[in-house]
Amino acid sequence: MTPIEFTFVFLAISCLAILCISFLIFLFYFIISAVFCPPFHYPYFTYNFDISGKRSPHLEDYIDQFIIDGHFTQIQQHYKEIETWKIKCENKIEKSLLKKYRRKQYLRCIDDSHAFQFTFSRTQTRYRQVNYVRESYQVSQTAYEVSYSYNKLLERKKQLAAIDYERPLREYNSKEQRKLMTKELRTSVMVRDNYTCQICGKYMPDEVGLQIDHIIPVSKGGKTVMSNLQVTCSKCNGHKKANIYPPHAQNSPERKEGHA
Ligand SMILES: [Zn+2]
Repeated sequence: MTPIEFTFVFLAISCLAILCISFLIFLFYFIISAVFCPPFHYPYFTYNFDISGKRSPHLEDYIDQFIIDGHFTQIQQHYKEIETWKIKCENKIEKSLLKKYRRKQYLRCIDDSHAFQFTFSRTQTRYRQVNYVRESYQVSQTAYEVSYSYNKLLERKKQLAAIDYERPLREYNSKEQRKLMTKELRTSVMVRDNYTCQICGKYMPDEVGLQIDHIIPVSKGGKTVMSNLQVTCSKCNGHKKANIYPPHAQNSPERKEGHA
């Protein structure tokens, strides 16, 4: 064997050896990752709220509004998906050769208390210089994150149902009910009551002289919600003042008190 031939054979064998070793390393890595990487991925529910322009938003109000707007079905639907996923995982574990290890991985992956994740992001306009021209572009940044379990959301939903989904819980329980009166709410009450005083029946389509009245006064625990608001003319409202009972209710105890 000439030295050239020898070098050639040596090089060929070295190349083959390197190739074999690489292949073995790859195979080893593949087996290790298949065994040790958890094959389970918890199916989180994610939803993003846009809070652009809101300085200090009350996050729970957004969650309540989400439920009030009828999106609880999405939550229920996802909860069912999680349950189905769990059954599938159980089946997978039963079929697996590494049952104990897989079960450990599965249990580590379950995260029911954070299953429903809500993010709150702000869209900001930024600028950059491109060839001496100012260009604007939008950036969305997550400002807050909150997560709930299904049971916590269900509990919130029940509490909202108890108040007829009229307002987010924090607002409903707020002591400053008067601050909750908005132009939109005022208009909604006007439209619902057809610009008519609910006490004397006077119809005033131009709205002048009409007021929005709390049926149960705020001072007596009345809430600023549609069901507790009515349109009255200023004359009837003046008669009513802080009296729970409308002026035409003859037998109200507070009226008698007032006359005494
Ligand atoms: Zn009236």
